[in-house]
Amino acid sequence: MESLLTRDRLMKWGAIDSAGCPLCYHINECHDHLFFACSYSFGVWSKLLRLQSIHRTAKNWQEEKQWAATYATGRSVKAEIYWMCLAGAIYHVWLERNSRVFREGQMEERAMVRQIIQ
Ligand SMILES: [Zn+2]
Repeated sequence: MESLLTRDRLMKWGAIDSAGCPLCYHINECHDHLFFACSYSFGVWSKLLRLQSIHRTAKNWQEEKQWAATYATGRSVKAEIYWMCLAGAIYHVWLERNSRVFREGQMEERAMVRQIIQ
């Protein structure tokens, strides 16, 4: 019931039907924004970094690639986990984006992080 009310409210405000990001409702949606700059994706990726004991803030895609080229190379377990988390984050953020665009529901950041880890 509550989610229905929320969606109705969002539709009334035009948030869902606008060109804005379906995850944070602010900036126009582009891939750079969606996967890294978006406050939702930023939150998911930040939590995943912390769970890997990587103590730095989430970066944009360009900076993330540069970081990975130095710190997540080779066949170490840490590097493998990093890449699995990154792929998982991108995949699940994309699913969440579609779920919101097609009004099939919303998932909280914490719930998504749990799902990615599982
Ligand atoms: Zn966003």
